[in-house]
Amino acid sequence: MGTPLILLTNDDGYLAPGLLALREALERLGEVWVLAPDRNWSAASRTRVFHKPLRVSPVRLPDGVLVHITNGSPSDCVSLALLGLAPRRPDVVVSGINAGANLGRDVTYSGTVAAAMEAAQAGIPALAISQDLGPEEGDEERAPDYQRAARIAAALVERLLADSPLPPGVLLNVNVPLARPKGIKITRLGTSIWRDYLVKGKDPRGRDYYWLAGEMMPAPPPGEEDTDVWAVFSGYVSITPLQLDLTDHRLLEALRAWETALSLPGE
Ligand code: MN
Repeated sequence: MGTPLILLTNDDGYLAPGLLALREALERLGEVWVLAPDRNWSAASRTRVFHKPLRVSPVRLPDGVLVHITNGSPSDCVSLALLGLAPRRPDVVVSGINAGANLGRDVTYSGTVAAAMEAAQAGIPALAISQDLGPEEGDEERAPDYQRAARIAAALVERLLADSPLPPGVLLNVNVPLARPKGIKITRLGTSIWRDYLVKGKDPRGRDYYWLAGEMMPAPPPGEEDTDVWAVFSGYVSITPLQLDLTDHRLLEALRAWETALSLPGE
């Protein structure tokens, strides 16, 4: 294999510090080709922009490196790259480093994870990486160390380039704790770290508005000791293999009886 091509994207937009740190850390592993959204698409999930033209333009990151940005979503970034914009088919796709953990069932909201899914769907080894910001997001005293998360991502990418265990449709979801990690845990998805609540108020024109808000739970729910949620709460780097096949294979046989038991309406 010649110089490996690493496609890098994110969902926080090209100015995110996590993207900057990750691009730099990946540089020694191959050619890093960046196509990132021109704005923040956090919680975009697998949003695709099909209703308007996509634009791609060159831009310089704060460190002066030339990259590409688009008005498309994180998934669009990967799709555009794979459909011909990247110089060749990437050997690995990396998405992140997201500002904030992507854990448990919340991964289905994540644009960061979605971009890696797009690559997995195309059969390319892919990795999403997120940096936990802790319960006090934005606390200056506890600024995240994106360099550390970037080094972890680079070590994993090196492994994927050498010998990827990921079959098509499978990706890695990596989360890095805020404090110096105690180690690495291979995990399954937990539930959620958020307790949602609704904030209702009146706008300046007297109309009701609603703000969907959430607060982080103080500890993971019991019985989750092998999950990503538990690992990150306990100070470990969490690596979860995710699959695009959302089928509940356990239910297939039990539901098979419905094929004959149910009659179609009107027949
Ligand atoms: Mn994000």
